[in-house]
Amino acid sequence: MPELPEVEVIRRGLASTLTGRRITRVVIQNRRLRLPLPRGRLKGWVEGGEVTSVSRRAKYLLITMESGARLVIHLGMSGRLAVVTAGTPPRDHDHVRFVLDGGLELRFNDARRFGSVQVVTPEGGDGAGLFAGVGPEPFSRAFSATYLLARTRERKRPIKNLLMDGTVVAGIGNIYANEALFVAGIDPVRPAGELDRDDCRRLVRGCRQVLERAIACGGTTISDFVNSSGVAGSFQCELQVYGRDGEGCRRCGSPIRRRVLAGRAAYSCPGCQR
Ligand SMILES: [Zn+2]
Repeated sequence: MPELPEVEVIRRGLASTLTGRRITRVVIQNRRLRLPLPRGRLKGWVEGGEVTSVSRRAKYLLITMESGARLVIHLGMSGRLAVVTAGTPPRDHDHVRFVLDGGLELRFNDARRFGSVQVVTPEGGDGAGLFAGVGPEPFSRAFSATYLLARTRERKRPIKNLLMDGTVVAGIGNIYANEALFVAGIDPVRPAGELDRDDCRRLVRGCRQVLERAIACGGTTISDFVNSSGVAGSFQCELQVYGRDGEGCRRCGSPIRRRVLAGRAAYSCPGCQR
């Protein structure tokens, strides 16, 4: 499942390809995604318009058109966005094709159909509540040690579960929560309320460090992530704990252990994390 770094890697690829280009035609192959594709809005607000910017909020990609309308895309579990040359044979599960000027096409492919493509009009139509309750971006000033300390007070949940809660901080899933806790030297099972200010400072820094490095590596490819040009990421080679149960810690040599928290695997080093 793509997490924040993978979505950011795709955003960067799309920003350089799409900005200033016109979407000349929208071809809908299959409307039945997690949310039905808004055919009328795609035809009325996106077709024929020029892309002015590509941004990201949490794990949503926001493609802004010259009209001020926004195409809002979520990749779900298996969604892919690929820029290909027009005439490239369609693949199974290509649900929408955005035909671009200059002989290119942007294709949204999603085998499991948990992804979504929405259109928010310049007046905000159908964007209501889209980002309501979404926590601060990990790279924003709002995600500070003071903020995290406040959000963890009196909380008995393991810190790893809290970190993966999108209302606390946006876009951190299982891989990066495990890695950030290792960098911060904090045991994933520790009750969140036990963290002190210094722990929170190290954890905020750990999240940013891990996410930044993953973006620089083009994301993490465990099963099939590729960027918008079809290139896999390489951060999986730098994982310190995720998926390494039984292997030696790269820092102290202790075997990495795997436990299950809220149904998700928690990996940690008993020597480096308290
Ligand atoms: Zn260790």
